[in-house]
Amino acid sequence: MQMPEPQKSSLIGLSRTALRDALLDAGIPERQAKMRVGQVWHWLYWQGASTFDTMTTLSRPLRDTLTERFDISRPDIVTQQISEDGTRKWLIRFGPGVEAETVFIPEENRGTLCISSQVGCTLNCRFCHTGTQKLVRNLTAGEIVSQILIARDALGEWPTPAQGRQITNIVLMGMGEPLYNFDNVKTAMDIASDGEGLSVSKRRITLSTAGVVPMIERVGAEMGVMLAISLHATRDDLRDELVPINKKYPLAELMEACRNYPGLSNARRITFEYTMLKGKNDSPADAKALVRLLKGIPAKINLIPFNPWPGSPYECSDWEQIEVFAEIINRAGYASPVRTPRGRDIMAACGQLKSDSVKQRAAERRRRERTEPVAETA
Ligand code: SAH
Repeated sequence: MQMPEPQKSSLIGLSRTALRDALLDAGIPERQAKMRVGQVWHWLYWQGASTFDTMTTLSRPLRDTLTERFDISRPDIVTQQISEDGTRKWLIRFGPGVEAETVFIPEENRGTLCISSQVGCTLNCRFCHTGTQKLVRNLTAGEIVSQILIARDALGEWPTPAQGRQITNIVLMGMGEPLYNFDNVKTAMDIASDGEGLSVSKRRITLSTAGVVPMIERVGAEMGVMLAISLHATRDDLRDELVPINKKYPLAELMEACRNYPGLSNARRITFEYTMLKGKNDSPADAKALVRLLKGIPAKINLIPFNPWPGSPYECSDWEQIEVFAEIINRAGYASPVRTPRGRDIMAACGQLKSDSVKQRAAERRRRERTEPVAETA
């Protein structure tokens, strides 16, 4: 009987230190390690290589060794959809039954890549489609980085462009709660922002949380990216209903964590996301309460018209109502552009992402992994 080939370990998503260890493990001499890490890093994240063959600054024997030991191929793209407004959505398969979505939203002077940190979610926010899907698992750092690589492949953005990029910003606003997967998200964002690689500045990376209060300080202190809070309500009773994690970390604690956010200043504001739900949170009184709640916090407010999904229990506020709300916010000194919904026709807008992946028992997963072919290196 033929033994299945042992799975090669992936180099994508390793920190520089971990990459060095992997190369040493493969027999690269200690004195070359630093140079080799630099070369491989350059090929992976500056040039976008997905095979060792293309790494022409490495000797042929070294390329062969690396090919034997390691995998740097992309995860499979199950589907790519393009909206009539140019928004793109990819359904990516990280393994048998493990699928998540990534969205690219082109705008006039920038382009935002919205990436997922988990398959499914534990939070059950009432108005969010992903919340109806159970958590399947956390994504690894490599799987988070791969979403950026796949988008760069599709948009033809290799080598990393110095200017005129399509992907200028990254937001962790896809599926999942990034602060329940802190370490992998941090490693991935360190790689995304590395100036010798993907080179997306941390000022242009925004992590959005539903309010995992004990982790918020670490986002500023250790990750150094911009923070967004999914607020949606200014009273605990309503927020308990919409964003149930509020029962664990109520508004007073959340606001306190925001006030203490490391590095907060007028130049580095916290973004507060507020989804407009008809008859729920969209009255002029709600707008005034929002202004009062944010008093003293350097803030931006993103008003998001609610995006419906099959079976969603809420409706989007009427346009006039949103305008009245926005006007009150504006008069209080916030530039609060209402986010035009993007990619609704392909279910790519905020809160519409969901995959068919379901949580499986480990035994079932192993069975599938044995029977389904492992993706081949391109
Ligand atoms: N778990 C994190 C990351 C997801 S971000 C968080 O909650 O912040 C996704 C953003 O879209 C959040 O602000 C979420 O509240 C918002 N959202 C979810 N469902 C939505 C919907 N149906 N319409 C509009 N916005 C929605």
